[in-house]
Amino acid sequence: MLRQPPTQVIGPKALVQARRAIVTCDACPRLRRHCLAIADEKRAAFRHETYWGRPVPGFGDPAAWLYVLGLAPAAHGANRTGRVFTGDGRGGSGDFLMSALHRAGLASIPTSQQADDGLALRGVFIGAAARCAPPANTPRPDELRRCRPHLAAEIAALPDLRAVVALGKIAWDAWLAFVAGHAPLPRPRPVFTHGAVASLAPPATRSPAGLTLIGCFHPSRQNTHTGRVTPEMYDGLFALALRIGRPSPLVGTGDQEPGIRKTLVTSHKEKGPRAQRGPFGP
Ligand code: SF4
Repeated sequence: MLRQPPTQVIGPKALVQARRAIVTCDACPRLRRHCLAIADEKRAAFRHETYWGRPVPGFGDPAAWLYVLGLAPAAHGANRTGRVFTGDGRGGSGDFLMSALHRAGLASIPTSQQADDGLALRGVFIGAAARCAPPANTPRPDELRRCRPHLAAEIAALPDLRAVVALGKIAWDAWLAFVAGHAPLPRPRPVFTHGAVASLAPPATRSPAGLTLIGCFHPSRQNTHTGRVTPEMYDGLFALALRIGRPSPLVGTGDQEPGIRKTLVTSHKEKGPRAQRGPFGP
């Protein structure tokens, strides 16, 4: 038996429709089989719980100015709890991300362990490039392509968005692929690194291309437990996002933020650190 949808306050009708389309989607047989098998087998620590097991919709503030784009649900995290970046263990990626958002004043609590924990995001909405937990945390290109309409539906339902933080290179590339359906991408193609900023079109452009894209290393344990990603780096990243995206006259380049190595303006060749390996790599 699968868990019932967690209660989430997402008011506008378009968001409700986007959510409904996501949780009922079965377009990727491999991923659906995997999610259901995980929900059936369970991890020993959660054997008494009912797993969500369905595709995971986005979560957050319907008036969001910032969209945080993750990779995909974790098998025993969001695939269990039904909420993005939720339940992947103490000190996992959900806690790491939420503590950074909390320090930035964008989340009501600094943890993300359960879908009924009362967490509220302020000005932020969190989604994912793929909505079903993939084997080895790696969705295939065809699965990412099939999931793109769900991203499009959420973005269309969030009219106040100004910026997107892509968590990892797969999310960055998924965003570029999505934008390429609306506007030509700049050449050379913007290169991912932590703190990279890509303005794909003038901010007033009435398409996703008008949103400023910000690169951010993924908060996977693989990154946070090795010190490749630190709380200070996330504080600098969200300070940059606030300066760029929050409706305010205080818009800057972010060069002065701690943890930001370099700011990339599109069509300039990136000279930042090289990508690390693995599904969560930059
Ligand atoms: S990954 Fe996306 S497109 Fe594929 S089944 Fe899940 S929700 Fe549907």
